[in-house]
Amino acid sequence: MSGASGTEALSEFRRRCQNWIAANLPPKSAPAEDPVALQRLLFDSGYAGIPFPEEYGGAGLTLEHQQAFYDLAHELGRQVPSGVALMVSVGMLGPTILEHGSHEVKSRFLPGLLRGDDLWIQLLSEPRGGSDMAGARTRLVRDGDSYVLTGSKMWSTGAHQSDYGLCLARTDWEAPKHRGLSMIAVPLAPTTPGLVVQQTRSADGTMGEFCEEFFDDIVLPSENLIGEENIGWAVAQTLLFHERNAVANVGYGYIGWDQSESPAGAYEPGRVSDLIGIARQRGVDQNSSVRQLIADVFIEEAVLPLSSARVMTGMALGTHEGQWGSLLKLQESEAAIERVRAALAACGAEGVIWEGDDIELDNPGTSWLLARGGTLAGGSSEMQRNIISERLLGLPREPSVERGLSFNEVLRRQESFE
Ligand SMILES: Cc1cc2nc3c(=O)[nH]c(=O)nc-3n(C[C@H](O)[C@H](O)[C@H](O)COP(=O)(O)OP(=O)(O)OC[C@H]3O[C@@H](n4cnc5c(N)ncnc54)[C@H](O)[C@@H]3O)c2cc1C
Repeated sequence: MSGASGTEALSEFRRRCQNWIAANLPPKSAPAEDPVALQRLLFDSGYAGIPFPEEYGGAGLTLEHQQAFYDLAHELGRQVPSGVALMVSVGMLGPTILEHGSHEVKSRFLPGLLRGDDLWIQLLSEPRGGSDMAGARTRLVRDGDSYVLTGSKMWSTGAHQSDYGLCLARTDWEAPKHRGLSMIAVPLAPTTPGLVVQQTRSADGTMGEFCEEFFDDIVLPSENLIGEENIGWAVAQTLLFHERNAVANVGYGYIGWDQSESPAGAYEPGRVSDLIGIARQRGVDQNSSVRQLIADVFIEEAVLPLSSARVMTGMALGTHEGQWGSLLKLQESEAAIERVRAALAACGAEGVIWEGDDIELDNPGTSWLLARGGTLAGGSSEMQRNIISERLLGLPREPSVERGLSFNEVLRRQESFE
């Protein structure tokens, strides 16, 4: 990237991007480009990983420069790389590795991740629970220069199509629950000895994105550890912090707000202009409860980008450090449910039926099922409310009977209840 530097003035950067975006990114009216191909295009021109250091494949700039780039792309009506896979890799795992990885780890993993060549996912939730992430029972045992991984994870989004998973596992069973965990990179290639990845059927009926993984004594080089042994909880906290930010479209996962109209004939569940059109078409636009639901969606559509912009500005100024992503993630995921509720009201029964046997995902019925998942992914709404109350409002912490006990003792006590 010519002239890139951490101190490059935003005005200068915008001028430089404007020409490049106009010349290179496809317009939104063109057929949707493969997000990974777009990410590679950005990387090869020096516009991927804008706030990441140049030595690890980034542009060596700041989050404000990233915001400026994506805002400009939307203003110019251009497509940007988007979608869950890149959000997880670039917006969540990338900054986590950047913060906790050694120089060798960052040099090895970050360029491929930022280019979209290697897709990463998180391996945190286990069959016995997701909210209680620190209760992980997947076992990681040091063996000379290697580690041996045994156990299982579930609800991992996109594991079957990814290259690496960042896995939280227990290295010390005598330490208190949060202090005996480590984070390690696991290659997800089907040829990895001891690894089985199984897709799970979703509530919408598709064999979707969810996977369950089984680790049967997988041998991993010790260089795959992200951060020191037994500080995995701190790494997981960083990961969740970036997850909530990315889901809320702030921080490293910021990709701007697409406020363009849907193309003629297309329909996006929950988009206000489409909702009004459908309500008119079906003659329910004078129905007061439908009007109220659409008005609520309109308000959220206006407020969400403003809340995000406020937090992004606060992050740049240093006034919004900490768990503000939880507030935005809660707002966005609950608003998503309201959006599909309004869509169902506007569409009536037509919203849940379609021609043919194939499951169509772009309709209010399946969107309603999917929207519920957003209030669980990245920590449930109840967990976000706990975080907001404890870490933003300073209210007392949730009581715990496990504090200070070794994890083995926690397990013994749990078993005596079961
Ligand atoms: C769309 C989607 C994508 C996901 N992707 C991934 C992924 O890529 N990788 C991954 O590791 N996991 C992933 N998950 C799993 C997700 O992190 C968990 O579903 C989530 O953390 C909740 O865990 P659980 O489902 O085990 O529910 P539980 O933890 O069993 O919770 C059940 C209910 O109890 C409530 N609850 C639990 N503890 C408390 C508490 N202390 N206070 C108040 N209420 C509480 C919860 O809010 C919830 O309503 C995904 C989930 C979804 C829906």
